[in-house]
Amino acid sequence: MQLKELISKIESVAPPELAFDWDRCGIQVAGTRQEINRMVMALDPDEQTIKQCLSQKAQFILTHHPLSIKPRLPDKIDSFYRIVKDLLKTNTILYSAHTSLDCNPLGPSSWLAKELRLNQVSVLKPTTTIKAVELSFHHPLPVTPEDLPCRQFILRWEQSPEGLINSVAVPCNKVDLFISGIKQQYWPVFFVKSYFPELDQQFGLGFKGRLPQPVPFETFIHLLKKILGVENTVLAGTPPKTVHSVSCCPGSGGDLAMDALSQDSDIFITGDLKYHQAQEAARLGCVLDVGHFILEEKMMFQWFTDLKEELEGIDLKFIEGASPLRVV
Ligand SMILES: [Zn+2]
Repeated sequence: MQLKELISKIESVAPPELAFDWDRCGIQVAGTRQEINRMVMALDPDEQTIKQCLSQKAQFILTHHPLSIKPRLPDKIDSFYRIVKDLLKTNTILYSAHTSLDCNPLGPSSWLAKELRLNQVSVLKPTTTIKAVELSFHHPLPVTPEDLPCRQFILRWEQSPEGLINSVAVPCNKVDLFISGIKQQYWPVFFVKSYFPELDQQFGLGFKGRLPQPVPFETFIHLLKKILGVENTVLAGTPPKTVHSVSCCPGSGGDLAMDALSQDSDIFITGDLKYHQAQEAARLGCVLDVGHFILEEKMMFQWFTDLKEELEGIDLKFIEGASPLRVV
C-alpha cells in the first residue's frame, strides 16, 4: 500500500485537526519509503517495543503515545537517541496517533462503551464541533453511495426520482476531499446547499452513556474486571447501590472526574487519578482508577483488529506492552 494512502486511512480515524495544541501527533521519525508492506502497532514507542517492531521487519510503526511531545535533538546517548538511530538506520517510519485518536468518539477510543453495551453514548468533554454541509452533484447514470469516493464520510444521502441528481451531507472538514474525489471521476459539483445542525458531529475526550438496565454495583465491577482482564481496581468515593449511567476517560482523565460526576454519572472510570483529584471526586460520587495502561492497550488492540480487516496488502502485527506499575 502507498504510504500516502496508509496515512490517510489512519487519519480518517485519528484526524490531526482533533489533536490538542500541546500534543505532537503524526510522523515522529520520517523515512523515505513510499510503499508499505509490513506494519506494527503498539501502545508505546519505548526502546524494547521498537526493538521488537524492528525484529518483525516493520517498515511503519503506529503507536498511541508520541516518542517525544516536545521537539528535541539527539544530543545525548539515551533511549531517545537509540530509538531514533535504529529507526533511521532501518528507514522505518514512526507515526503517533495520540490525542487525535482520543478525541474521536467514533473510533476505538470508545471501545469500552461498546463492550459495556452503553446506550445514548455522547462525548464527555466536547472540544470540537464539526458542522455538516450538503453537496449536490450530477451524474449521467444513477449511482449509489457505494460508488462514491470518500463514502465513509457520508452522513446522509438523497437522490432525485430519476436518480441523476445526488445530494450528500458530509462533515465540512471533508468537503475539499470529497469534491476532489468526485471531480476525478468527472462528476461536477454544482452547489453547496446548507448546514444541517442535526448532523453536526461532536468530538472530544471521554464518553458517557447508560447501561441497558441498572445493575448492582458488585455486578458492574465484576463485568468491568472481566472486560479489562484485571483482578483489582482502585476506588475513590462511595459506591452507588446500583449503576446505570457510566462515564469514562481513558488515559490521564482524572481531571474530568468532577465534570463527569456533576453530569449525573453513577460511576466515572479513568486511567490515572491523583490523590487530590480522588479526594475531591470522592465528595461527589464514585471513581474507578482501572489503570492508564490497560484502557489504552485495549484501545490500540481494538484499532489493530479494525485495521487488520481494512488494510489490504499489509502484513500487520501488534506488539503487546506491559504496565510499568504492578501490585506486590
Ligand atoms: Zn495515554
